[in-house]
Amino acid sequence: MDHFLYRDGLLHAEDVAITDIAATVGTPFYCYSAATLTRHYHLFTEALAPLPHLVCFAIKSLSNVAVLKLLGDLGAGMDVVSGGEYLRARAAGVPGERIVFSGVGKTRDEMRLALTGGIRQFNVESEPELRALSEVAVSLGVRAPIALRVNPDVDAKTHEKIATGKSENKFGVPIAKAREVYAEAASLPGIDVVGIDVHIGSQLTELAPFEAAFTKVRDLTQALRADGHNIRRLDLGGGLGIPYTRSNEAPPLPTEYGAMIHRVLGDLGCEIEIEPGRLISGNAGILVSQVIYVKNGEGRDFLILDAAMNDLVRPSMYGAHHDIIPVVEPAAASPAQAFDVVGPVCETGDTFAKARALPHLAEGDLVAFRSAGAYGAVMASEYNTRPLVPEVLVKGDHFAVIRARPTFDEILSRDTIPEWL
Ligand SMILES: *Cc1c(COP(=O)(O)O)cnc(C)c1O
Repeated sequence: MDHFLYRDGLLHAEDVAITDIAATVGTPFYCYSAATLTRHYHLFTEALAPLPHLVCFAIKSLSNVAVLKLLGDLGAGMDVVSGGEYLRARAAGVPGERIVFSGVGKTRDEMRLALTGGIRQFNVESEPELRALSEVAVSLGVRAPIALRVNPDVDAKTHEKIATGKSENKFGVPIAKAREVYAEAASLPGIDVVGIDVHIGSQLTELAPFEAAFTKVRDLTQALRADGHNIRRLDLGGGLGIPYTRSNEAPPLPTEYGAMIHRVLGDLGCEIEIEPGRLISGNAGILVSQVIYVKNGEGRDFLILDAAMNDLVRPSMYGAHHDIIPVVEPAAASPAQAFDVVGPVCETGDTFAKARALPHLAEGDLVAFRSAGAYGAVMASEYNTRPLVPEVLVKGDHFAVIRARPTFDEILSRDTIPEWL
């Protein structure tokens, strides 16, 4: 359940009418619901409550500092994949001991930043990274806590661009090689082995691939302990999928996911870490846009919006579906019309939906893309010199702009013409 509902014929975010935000902020804009973010975070903490655990929000799905502050104040940890994300988590007041650093290509500068600022653990993805991290830690006179990201070679059965747990993917160390790499880790002066990490992909809609991976992690935990390693934390990654349509999809619930974790790993005495992104942020956000024109083409009608692929790239990048709903509630009897929903960018790929059945819509009407909180604003760009889309946070009857739309002066002032030109 989220908190974007019609009330008195108008779409609301919690107690705020979307039309009121649009009148103040202009369109397009992202709008997030604090109550929905809070609820989703608690679904995970409740699901894992019987085990020692830390829910680390995957910042890459939605990285606005205000959102991070909201989740961090609830006790959430953060999963970061860059120095920039690390600084966002710290700017939101999250202490280093609740920040996990993931990613295949951490630079020495990023390692130094996290080691000096404070870090819970690095999820290390390769032997060269392990050696570099040890060197950096030794140069700072500390030891870096690590989990090795193992690649369990399971098929996550998700979109190929977001599957990460097959041996052909660039992520992690093959699980068959893990004992060897842990042995090297234990011998390095700057490394402190604390656990095992696994993340097999995103938008998973079945529990079976998770269970297959976690069972392999269970076996590895026992093998590594027999080898003398003190494995005390298991980081199980993120990836639980969300329903993008209201009708047919029913991905597993966090309670079912938590129960499975308990069943497979509960007796190992390890602290469980998870890194959900999409499930916390996805359905906690919408993208609001205005119809610029309705264009009647040959055999099809186009709804031309003021939002485009630069604001929400998921449809053109992953072929993703987003429900699109009018901000003014349509009359129950309103007949549906098929529209190709497109943005103004000069690319055919700038298409949000084809032949989408929508109620009658006209120039100036507002629409909302549902399930746009995750991998929405964070992937936005200024392609076509369209100002970076602003973000708004709603809590109860409050709303605030948490990232302002840049002015054209600001955009142009970032470019410099060299003196010699
Ligand atoms: C992307 C990612 C996540 C979050 O995935 P979701 O599908 O958004 O839950 C977690 N951990 C790692 C290492 C990731 O790369």
